Amino acid sequence: MPLPSLSEILLDLPLYTPLQLETADSGTLEEWGIDTFQLDGYCTHCEDRTIFYDSRLHRFRPEQPLGNRSFTMNIHCGRNKTHTVTFHFVITKRTLMKVGQYPSHADMSNPELKKYRKALGPERAAELHRAIGLAANGVGIGSYAYLRRIFETLLADHRKAVEDADGAIAGYDGMRIEEKITALKSVLPEALVRNRSVYGILSKGIHELSEAECLVIFPVVKDAIVMILEQDRVNKERREQEAALQKRLDAVANQIKRAQSGGDLLN
Ligand SMILES: [Zn+2]
Repeated sequence: MPLPSLSEILLDLPLYTPLQLETADSGTLEEWGIDTFQLDGYCTHCEDRTIFYDSRLHRFRPEQPLGNRSFTMNIHCGRNKTHTVTFHFVITKRTLMKVGQYPSHADMSNPELKKYRKALGPERAAELHRAIGLAANGVGIGSYAYLRRIFETLLADHRKAVEDADGAIAGYDGMRIEEKITALKSVLPEALVRNRSVYGILSKGIHELSEAECLVIFPVVKDAIVMILEQDRVNKERREQEAALQKRLDAVANQIKRAQSGGDLLN
């Protein structure tokens, strides 16, 4: 399996996710020490998304990129160089692991998710918070179990929306996750529908997945949840804007009608 991108490893993968290194990865690890890069993420100082740049301060080129060692990587916020995020890595027995991060993954994820708290409701919002906290500490199965439940309840919410509009979906309860996503495609984000085969893994029981597999899947499921919540938020905002515009148009139309029937336009 190829290594995830550096952006994923730094910003998405939970701590202690073991990444098996192949001989071909030696070049990739060397590039990390040479190439400049930038990534999009949440800055806890700015309290906003930002572009992070690499900081070359702690870089070095190891003799054996895949040999046992530990190293640090820093990235800094494009708005202010003192806003840094520090990552610690260990390579042991050809396995790469992120073993430390400050600010923590939870610190960087949770503020961003605040805006979805209302849509999720208190129970699911608390579960999402807990899932991120557990994953940030390398607890794979526990964090994944929460995410899966949130994902399934979100599908159930959207099923209700589809059925309220178009009538019952035949056989929904017996469907696999991919099929459920297809059945709900009119109300789910397009990217989720397009990648539904990836989410097929959610049909697997928790007992079928290892701790490490759960950690690798975690960011993918979290992204799916955020994608759904974000689309719902944007749609809701648009509906509210349209309703507000309609109200203003109605008011203007009424004023014009009154003016035409002899009243004063400004009254
Ligand atoms: Zn910043």
